[in-house]
Amino acid sequence: MSDEADANRVAGWFGDCYGRQPEGVWQAPGRANLIGEHTDYNQGWVLPFALDRGVLVAAACRHDGMLVIRSRQAPGEPATLPLATVAPGRVTGWAAYPAGVAWALREAGHPVGGASLAIDSTLPQGAGLSSSAALECAVALALTGLYGLDVPRPDLAILARRAENDFVGVPSGIMDQSASLLCQASHALLLDCRSGEGSAVPLEPAAAGLALLIVDTGARHALGDGRYALRRGECDQAAGELGVRCLRDVADAAAADGLADPVLRRRARHVVTENHRVTQAAAMLRAGGLAGAGALLSASHTSLRDDFEVSWPEADTTVDAALEAGALGARMMGGGLGGSGIALGPPAPDAVRAAIGGRYAPLGRPAPGVLAPPPPPRRRRLPGARRPCAGRGRGGSEALLGVDGQERSRTAERQLPHAAWPARRARQDRRRPAGKHGVRAPPADRRALDGGARRPPSGARLDAHPDYVALGLRAGAQSPR
Ligand code: ADP
Ligand code: MG
Repeated sequence: MSDEADANRVAGWFGDCYGRQPEGVWQAPGRANLIGEHTDYNQGWVLPFALDRGVLVAAACRHDGMLVIRSRQAPGEPATLPLATVAPGRVTGWAAYPAGVAWALREAGHPVGGASLAIDSTLPQGAGLSSSAALECAVALALTGLYGLDVPRPDLAILARRAENDFVGVPSGIMDQSASLLCQASHALLLDCRSGEGSAVPLEPAAAGLALLIVDTGARHALGDGRYALRRGECDQAAGELGVRCLRDVADAAAADGLADPVLRRRARHVVTENHRVTQAAAMLRAGGLAGAGALLSASHTSLRDDFEVSWPEADTTVDAALEAGALGARMMGGGLGGSGIALGPPAPDAVRAAIGGRYAPLGRPAPGVLAPPPPPRRRRLPGARRPCAGRGRGGSEALLGVDGQERSRTAERQLPHAAWPARRARQDRRRPAGKHGVRAPPADRRALDGGARRPPSGARLDAHPDYVALGLRAGAQSPR
């Protein structure tokens, strides 16, 4: 993903739609999951990493209390919603995801007001790469950034999940939103889904002479069709019969053998063994032994296919082809029954790619899309603002002044002296506890704030904060127009 080109593109489209410049562009990535499937809602462990693709949101405040949402991936009339009446069940279709985020923020007491949003994405939808969470998280960053709200990222992940669970109605776990907001470049996130604690685990396949391939099998899942909820119910039932709160509390796979129902036995066995595989894989990565994780990926696939029964034909084909072509391990990824697979490849991923394509051809199907592996370590650079900035809200967020004079005077009223921002931010950072994730979560607009007082002249760029892949930036992307 090219931050600058993508940000400029969505900023330009915002201008076309709304006849003004956006106040900023925010981006949140999709995710792949190295290992740990159907463990999140069982309060176990997962090991996702951010992708070099995501959802971008160009946004500006509105003062009429309306939320106006457009997506390039959903052509047609925008969703135009009076914020005060936005509630679960009142918004359907794709717009429920961004509307749900505004609702969850307001329900939590964050004073989010009206906004115009223009959404663009470089992620396939329904491919198990978490386009829904990337959409929620990018909107969450945009709304909190626009209104200067300093919501720690772990809390923001919980609110974004609430949008998906309670507003859209998909009973997903916390993994996707946590991965989108908390992943760091060149690291996976070992997330304990019970405590919410996460830690960064080095993941640099290229440095190990390896490649991670993410394969969009082309088969689309439909999480709303009830099968996901069915699996969740089966896990709850298995936990109940084993006398534990949830399957995370079953330490030994042999305990699952005590279940009378063979279906529940298989479901429980998958969850218990998958939790072990996740912690083993994280230990291997920490010890620099990524290659050893290959066997764990393949074991995960077998377990998901045979015990949890959520694999699908294209995923099995992809895994078989990858292994035959020399991959060290491969598995289906995501909730299952459609979506993507992941293969830990040898140094020549093209051979794996060709082998997978070769297996699809006799089926009369196009070769599946193979996404780029996670990005190498780098510091991202984003376009800087072109105008002086103004503070808004308690976070002291800076803003490009709106093109309309009204907004300019409104924001100017609350403008903080630029030189005071870094000192104030440093004080806030010292007060903010290190948090469960072992890192101080910077506020959504941290990088822009850091650059605020030092902001170079028009057209220059800011270095983005290297901690997170999701860019909670008030970047003030320049419209190419
Ligand atoms: P996944 O998260 O694996 O991509 P989901 O079924 O959870 O699959 O989420 C996909 C849904 O998210 C889409 O059907 C659509 O409603 C919404 N969505 C994702 N990205 C966009 C986008 N760029 N524009 C509009 N809606 C989107
Ligand atoms: Mg999703």
